[in-house]
Amino acid sequence: MSAHKDPRLAMLVESIVRLSRGELSSRIEPSSARDEVDAVITGVNLLAEELEQVYEQFEKRVESRTAMLRQAHLDMMKMAMSDALTGLANRVALMDAIEEALNQASAGSPPPALLLLDLDSFKNVNDRFGHDAGDRVLQEVASRLNSVVRESDLVARLGGDEFAILLPGASMDSAMHVARRALEALDAHIRLDSLYVHARASIGVRLGTTGQSAEELLLDADTAMYAAKREGRSIIKVFEPVMLYSRQLRSQMATELRGAISSDELVLHYQPVVELATNRILGVEVLVRWQHPLRGLIPPDTFIPLAEEIGVIHDLDRWVMSRSLRQLAQWRRDIALDEDFQLRVNLSAVELKQLDLVDHIRGLLRELDLPARALVVEITETAIVTRGEVEMYSLLSLKQLGVGIEIDDFGTGYSSISYLRELPVSMVKVDRSLLVELNSRAGQLEFVAAILQLIRAAGLEAVFEGIETAEQASQLRDLGCASGQGYYFSRPLPADETAALLTATRFLQVGDGVEGAQRASSR
Ligand code: C2E
Ligand code: MG
Ligand code: MG
Repeated sequence: MSAHKDPRLAMLVESIVRLSRGELSSRIEPSSARDEVDAVITGVNLLAEELEQVYEQFEKRVESRTAMLRQAHLDMMKMAMSDALTGLANRVALMDAIEEALNQASAGSPPPALLLLDLDSFKNVNDRFGHDAGDRVLQEVASRLNSVVRESDLVARLGGDEFAILLPGASMDSAMHVARRALEALDAHIRLDSLYVHARASIGVRLGTTGQSAEELLLDADTAMYAAKREGRSIIKVFEPVMLYSRQLRSQMATELRGAISSDELVLHYQPVVELATNRILGVEVLVRWQHPLRGLIPPDTFIPLAEEIGVIHDLDRWVMSRSLRQLAQWRRDIALDEDFQLRVNLSAVELKQLDLVDHIRGLLRELDLPARALVVEITETAIVTRGEVEMYSLLSLKQLGVGIEIDDFGTGYSSISYLRELPVSMVKVDRSLLVELNSRAGQLEFVAAILQLIRAAGLEAVFEGIETAEQASQLRDLGCASGQGYYFSRPLPADETAALLTATRFLQVGDGVEGAQRASSR
């Protein structure tokens, strides 16, 4: 090899330096000599090529990993902000969005409106058809709600069967429009395989005001929704400040009601049930009242729904059952009651679901030495229309025990006579609303006659409640109805007056209805 320096060596050194700096595209042209130096040059070129490829792959990998990381981060953010079941925004996301909309409002934009929706009988769906069905209903509701809003609006699920719709920059008109469309969207049946279910909702509407916090807006909408719920199904209510007061009053009443049972503030009245042909007293229905220390005597229609809502109905019903059976036992000792005298006790739907209900009643009857046939339980038709397993077990066991079962308020719910036939029921109490227009509405008498015939054809016995006049009593008698109760015969009476009445006579002395009502209203 020659002593003078080969210029290719300098190129080689330069190229290696460039490669080491990361300039991987650097190559050296081999010479025409094709000698050992050219061999090294080719080697270095190959190495550079290799390096360049490895580096490219490496870069691609880094790129895709970075993208994956970014996506995972987004997914996590989304998960934290959305409801897993429906894919809607969750409470956190809703609160964020409300806050943002309120901020825009304080910067001069129109305020947002918040709609709060609660499904009316979702619990029934879960109880009757299971949680899978419940989930599918919630998903369908979510998609229907999404279909009635614009891109800029937000539909959220707050949990359970509660949904919200946020309309940023809305007017009361547009909020009401969306609320009505939401009700319409939920009006159609939801199909679950072979089942059809209804998922109607109650809606509270609140238009935001400046200076309001997101929590306050939500609470107001919730209060309006609550008012809608109390008024009935499928109702829209706009928030009014007075609602806050009634809600507060209710929560105070709830606290007091919890204490009422233990502090003996509940009192029992008894209303005679009579044989229409003879006015013989066949028994009494026990009706609870709340003797409130400040508010006076509160009727059950006011506090029974509240008791059901706050979960004290169970204690209340047990208390009534035990107290009134004790009362019956005492009367049977003190007064010469007829052999077939019966006590009727109202049971709420919740009570029928209690596995130990039958044991509880059996135990009381045994302890008080009372025959089972002396007791009739009254259950509203809506309570058994769901026909859950426990309910059926309770009904069948009560029947087996010998306790009478009566469907209360018949004609207000949905059950058909043929449906009742399949239940272990022996009596049907026709709701008083059917008598109200007996003599004022054309065809009402025929309608009542038809209902009576149907009940009889099903092998059941009919009892009419709410008989207020001599005329009604005689009309029902003429139709062949055997028994009934109502102000015409007697108002519900306190225990001592009931005892006095039962001691004095087995047959009720009745004048005309007005007199009967006056007699009773003096108390
Ligand atoms: P219900 O079982 O249908 O009771 C009959 C209701 O009609 C009673 O109202 C009674 O006072 C009233 N009534 C009787 N005769 C007449 C009449 O001639 N005209 C009119 N307009 N009304 C008459 P009350 O005592 O206010 O009870 C209302 C409801 O509260 C009951 O309806 C029952 O569903 C519920 N309830 C009462 N006591 C209890 C209880 O101990 N437990 C449960 N779970 N519910 C009860
Ligand atoms: Mg009743
Ligand atoms: Mg009734």
